Amino acid sequence: MIRMQAMPKDPGDEIADLAAQINAQLTFLRDIGITDIGGSARPPSSTPRGSAFQSALPESVTVDAASGQTIVVQDQGVTSQLKSGTTAQQDHPGPPLVNLFGEVVAPATTGRNVRTRSSAGETDTIPETWSNRSLEEIRSDLGECTRCRLHEHRTNIVFGEGNPAAELVFVGEGPGADEDRTGRPFVGKAGKLLDRIIEAIGMDRADVYIANVVKCRPPENRTPERDEAATCGPFLFRQLGFIRPKVIVALGAPALQCLTGSREGITKARGQWQAWHGIKVMPTYHPAYLLRVPDKKKETWEDMKRVRDYIIKGEY
Ligand code: URA
Repeated sequence: MIRMQAMPKDPGDEIADLAAQINAQLTFLRDIGITDIGGSARPPSSTPRGSAFQSALPESVTVDAASGQTIVVQDQGVTSQLKSGTTAQQDHPGPPLVNLFGEVVAPATTGRNVRTRSSAGETDTIPETWSNRSLEEIRSDLGECTRCRLHEHRTNIVFGEGNPAAELVFVGEGPGADEDRTGRPFVGKAGKLLDRIIEAIGMDRADVYIANVVKCRPPENRTPERDEAATCGPFLFRQLGFIRPKVIVALGAPALQCLTGSREGITKARGQWQAWHGIKVMPTYHPAYLLRVPDKKKETWEDMKRVRDYIIKGEY
């Protein structure tokens, strides 16, 4: 009997596979409106940055045949590169072998489910009464809240959800119709975009925690009034105090204002680190705004890169 032996993969097929994976990643980047990752991609010194980033290649993949070392991909301004010979995590079932920085990475490289306390007493200024109750206890303290007028029209309280040991927390404004119906934060169109933003920095929704300034839907999705935010805010603060993330991303001005007490607009404040009781706060645009003004996604991407770098490398 003749046994068929598994044939080693043709190098051409391997390159085609790699190209397909990279194209999938680029499609994802385009989907979330990111068309330029040049600022964070770090070409190796053997790759002349200018040529790789600026040449007008009609197709998305170019193999550097001369060195055989680097695959440079350029697609409508999005450039990634992958050093051949570098293996991505073999047991990862899904596609993204190349992160949004154009580097080969293991997926979800941040400490998933690992509670990290920052060094140098970064979290020390959180009042004891905001940090001594678990999320379940805070939820139970909230009860079937009638503390402000927002309860009158709500279907469900949207308490917040996610990893209680998250390094990253997103704070939105208040529930919309989908969230009011389901009792879960950011599950509508803006939520889908938020999911993709989270994925863009190599994390999953399950890694982070998501909450809002107010836990009941404001009528007609209006911005929460100051007194509503002041009534509901302490529950958010207690959630944050318990979780003690490394970074809080404030999605839009109401979230930022609730956290910092400022009256700053988001256009001016976005991208500038701020703090909430010793925890870093990164203000950026709200995903619902990004859906209306997609051009601004580029700026949110810049902000999220800073968040990612701080969480992973402590750089800010
Ligand atoms: N917008 C928000 O601010 N929060 C949600 O939960 C959903 C949409």
